[in-house]
Amino acid sequence: MTDTPKMICPDCGIEMNYHAEKLDYTAALIDPDAVDPDLDGILEEVHTCPGCGTIGTRRSQ
Ligand SMILES: [Zn+2]
Repeated sequence: MTDTPKMICPDCGIEMNYHAEKLDYTAALIDPDAVDPDLDGILEEVHTCPGCGTIGTRRSQ
């Protein structure tokens, strides 16, 4: 977990800050194979860019 690479802002090219985790239920409908059976959804990390405020998400590892 400690060496998880940071997300890079597509606009600024700088490292984004990890903000929160959210459970995405709609993604589960699109990609059922990725669903965590315990959570009934897909866990995503939310990152925000300190430069422009862009919000990015990616699946938790
Ligand atoms: Zn940015």
